[in-house]
Amino acid sequence: MTQRYQSWGRYPKASHQIQTIQWPEDLPNDLTKQIHGALPFGNGRSYGDCCLNDGGLLLDGRFRNRLLAFDAHSGILRCEAGVLLADILELMTPRGWFPAVTPGTKLLTVGGAIANDVHGKNHHRTGSFGDHVHRIGLLRSDGQQLICSPDENTDLFRATIGGIGLTGYILWAEFSLRPISNPYFDMETIRYGNVEDFFQLSSESDQDYEYTLAWLDCQGRGKNLGRGLFMRGNHAPFIPQAQWPKHASRQLNMPIDPPFTLINGLTLKAFNTLYYYKQIRRSQCACVHYDSFFYPLDAIDNWNRIYGPKGFFQYQCVLPQESGQDGIKEILKGIARSGQGSFLGVLKVFGDRQSPGLLSFPRPGSTLALDFPNRGKKTLTLLERFDTIVREAGGAVYIAKDARMSPSSFRHFYPQWQTFKSFVDPGFSSSFWRRVTEESS
Ligand SMILES: Cc1cc2nc3c(=O)[nH]c(=O)nc-3n(C[C@H](O)[C@H](O)[C@H](O)COP(=O)(O)OP(=O)(O)OC[C@H]3O[C@@H](n4cnc5c(N)ncnc54)[C@H](O)[C@@H]3O)c2cc1C
Repeated sequence: MTQRYQSWGRYPKASHQIQTIQWPEDLPNDLTKQIHGALPFGNGRSYGDCCLNDGGLLLDGRFRNRLLAFDAHSGILRCEAGVLLADILELMTPRGWFPAVTPGTKLLTVGGAIANDVHGKNHHRTGSFGDHVHRIGLLRSDGQQLICSPDENTDLFRATIGGIGLTGYILWAEFSLRPISNPYFDMETIRYGNVEDFFQLSSESDQDYEYTLAWLDCQGRGKNLGRGLFMRGNHAPFIPQAQWPKHASRQLNMPIDPPFTLINGLTLKAFNTLYYYKQIRRSQCACVHYDSFFYPLDAIDNWNRIYGPKGFFQYQCVLPQESGQDGIKEILKGIARSGQGSFLGVLKVFGDRQSPGLLSFPRPGSTLALDFPNRGKKTLTLLERFDTIVREAGGAVYIAKDARMSPSSFRHFYPQWQTFKSFVDPGFSSSFWRRVTEESS
């Protein structure tokens, strides 16, 4: 298995046959006869197995990466699905346009952004990526090419947004960019003391700030439980180009693939504490480039290697507003009790809008994301316990980050899964899909 065809968490391991898709004709015509069928592959930035098809075929569209059309009046871009968000940023920000929604990495494809209906720091204002998609060109395993939009093949459109690659191959998509006057953000970072403070800051900020998110110190205990750095920001207003702040993009690399995880109790405590106290003042304002504002982790190539060859799990859940605070506290206390720390957590309150896809993850409430080195059964048992908390609270776990949720949890978290199932292309499958539907298929 080459390094490209794995998930970002490097768990589970999988082996594939690879078919490059540059033109629709490259799609093999006998997919329904293939064991495990085929699955589109974007750039492997999903943490778990929704981008894997162990023992089956992966359809790699990295060469389907052309920008096809741009309407400078409406801001609607049409491009092939293998285009990276990083390329769109490079080309479009100097022309005054920015993605309406961006996740915490720019190294994902447009196909991957649609298929996981990704969200970003501005969910409370602008919803998820799928909310800005107008049309999709979808290739089905029988060779049909369908246009899906809110007016055409509407149900298939709703299934394909957040459809984890199972409804067919997205050839191209049309979606909105938003106008900007420069690539900079006015950002304020506030050190806060605990979970209650986070919710207070979040509700105070959502009205005036387009982007909000907190980094948690997962080592905080007692009255410090959930303490962290709250970040809020807006696109910077017009600044003459000569006065733009300096931006030197420095790319680092994790050069080795260590034979064991470099994350242990000591490194976790040190890192979390240092991060929490990284600014001296309680509140700090800065005008920063979009790379620092959205993509700090992209500055270190292969950072996932620090977890060693067994890989790691990212756990991201959403808890409804009513039970959010208690559920988040329970999970954070569970981390403390287990002695299995997380290398920083992320906390954000989603907006109220209904997500566009049948299997979309964002829903009203607060979302918490945590990383755990893979310590086998010990870690799996802990995450299973978190699933119980999330289930009882009426929340959900994010498919893009998952490598282990049980079939029954999946059905609880995604009650529309059976409706979705009727849109799954008979020639397509994935490791994730077989894992969560095996009891019922
Ligand atoms: C550092 C980091 C930060 C992240 N931050 C966020 C965040 O803030 N918010 C968030 O929502 N996510 C976040 N993610 C997750 C990431 O955005 C998603 O997992 C995204 O889907 C990855 O896209 P990809 O192009 O790498 O696709 P892959 O991971 O390769 O595939 C993802 C899914 O898309 C399907 N797919 C890919 N291409 C096509 C196609 N052409 N047609 C049909 N289906 C296709 C695949 O089959 C698979 O099911 C983050 C990931 C990382 C590594």
